Amino acid sequence: MPNPKRRHSKARGRLRRTFYKLEPLQLGKCPQCGKAKMSHRICPHCGYYKGKQVVVIKTVDEKQKEREKKRTKT
Ligand SMILES: [Zn+2]
Repeated sequence: MPNPKRRHSKARGRLRRTFYKLEPLQLGKCPQCGKAKMSHRICPHCGYYKGKQVVVIKTVDEKQKEREKKRTKT
């Protein structure tokens, strides 16, 4: 098994790890609602993509109502 001949310094390891940092997300504006959204993805605020509504975004209230409906059915 190949092994490193010498241990390298703390500084060397730390210097390597300086390149590990995260970059902030590159967010664009939604042309439909103007809120920040990731490019090439459906807008999480209005559900539009390429000028068409692709998914229906439910509000918290709507989700709760659906949950209650499911409970009453069973
Ligand atoms: Zn939008």
